[in-house]
Amino acid sequence: MLSKINDIVAGFISILKGLAVTGKNMLKKPVTIQYPFEKPVMTEKFRGLVDLYPEKCIACSQCVKICPTAALDLTATTNPETKKRFLGAFSYNGELCCFCGLCQEVCPTAAMYLNKCYEVAYYKHGDLTKIDLLKADKYQHLTPPKVKGLKK
Ligand code: SF4
Ligand code: SF4
Repeated sequence: MLSKINDIVAGFISILKGLAVTGKNMLKKPVTIQYPFEKPVMTEKFRGLVDLYPEKCIACSQCVKICPTAALDLTATTNPETKKRFLGAFSYNGELCCFCGLCQEVCPTAAMYLNKCYEVAYYKHGDLTKIDLLKADKYQHLTPPKVKGLKK
């Protein structure tokens, strides 16, 4: 009989302890957000897709040379008199990229950077293999999840 009473008291104390933990956490700010209705803010060091400020690029090809996965490709012309190089085309293969950030680190003019894009969803293979880095709307086709009531 005594052991049964002990069990009931222990069970009751256990329930109170559990409720205390629940109550304490109910008052805290949630660590989760209602994605995709709320969007997270990426940290400063987050590495998204490779991006470019074309006006800053001097076509030195250092980023292309250092890339360990050969994800970058550029063509450039050189003025024979001034020896100045001009960008012709600049493409990026996001499926090859391992997001190491070496291209950003090596760029002498800070023209190349990894953006904060994390919604890298697409429907066709190839949508991320030939990104024209010179285009302003290069990542427009990457779609966030389609959810009823979501304002884009
Ligand atoms: S982040 Fe790394 S793998 Fe991706 S393009 Fe830059 S150097 Fe290449
Ligand atoms: S390293 Fe920078 S400046 Fe040189 S080609 Fe790459 S993006 Fe352009």
